[in-house]
Amino acid sequence: MKSLASRCFACDEVITNPICSQCLAGQMKVVVGEYDQKLARRIVGFSSPASEGDMVCINCSQSMSLCAHCFSKDIYEYLSENNTQIAEEFINRFDFDLRQELM
Ligand SMILES: [Zn+2]
Ligand SMILES: [Zn+2]
Repeated sequence: MKSLASRCFACDEVITNPICSQCLAGQMKVVVGEYDQKLARRIVGFSSPASEGDMVCINCSQSMSLCAHCFSKDIYEYLSENNTQIAEEFINRFDFDLRQELM
């Protein structure tokens, strides 16, 4: 058991969805790619240097320090600037409490 809860460096919340941005980016590329291949290619994961007590991704076991909420918010904002229809579709699939914050 780790004594320290891992917090997101961006929002300082405890990370509750331990999926790293690299893995999320992979899933997002697939969804966005159904609509727009060019936009999909621009989605890249955020890699962070490992530090002690970091949360580890349940998918790939890499350490992570950015929560799914912050990462998907970034991508959502990027998509909504480029294509609101894709942004809508995106938030339907990757709603990590984004709606609560944006609506
Ligand atoms: Zn966060
Ligand atoms: Zn991962």
